[in-house]
Amino acid sequence: MKKPIPSEDTVHRAVLAHLRMRAPKSAVIWHTPNGGSRNVIEAAKLKAMGVMAGFPDVMIWHAGSLYGLELKREKGGRVSAKQAECMAALTREGALCAVAHGVDHAIEILEGWGLIGSQKSKTRAGSEAARV
Ligand SMILES: [Mg+2]
Repeated sequence: MKKPIPSEDTVHRAVLAHLRMRAPKSAVIWHTPNGGSRNVIEAAKLKAMGVMAGFPDVMIWHAGSLYGLELKREKGGRVSAKQAECMAALTREGALCAVAHGVDHAIEILEGWGLIGSQKSKTRAGSEAARV
C-alpha cells in the first residue's frame, strides 16, 4: 500500500516544529494567514489594510536578513502566479526566498540558509534550489 503524501498543512506544522526546536532563539518566525476562505467584505477590508497576496508561508527575520519559504506538498504542489510575483518582489528587495516541496526539502533549504544547524555558511544556495 502506498504511503499517503502529507498535506501542505502537515508539512507546514512539521517545518515550524523544526524551526522552533533548531532555529536561533532570536530569530523572528511568522506565518501570514493569507489562505482560507473569507467573505468579500472581509477580503476587501484586509486588502485595503495591506494584506499581500502570495506571501510565503513561513517568514524568518534573523541577523538582519529576511527569508521567505513557500511550502508545498512533496508532490503536486504548484506555485501560483501571485506567490511567484511576491517572492520575486521580496527577492528584489534583498530577501532570500525558496519553494520547498515537502519537509525534507524545507530542512535542506533552511540548513543551506544556516538557520537550523547547518555546517554550511549562509549562502544563497537555498534560493538556487527554489523552483519559483
Ligand atoms: Mg504554500
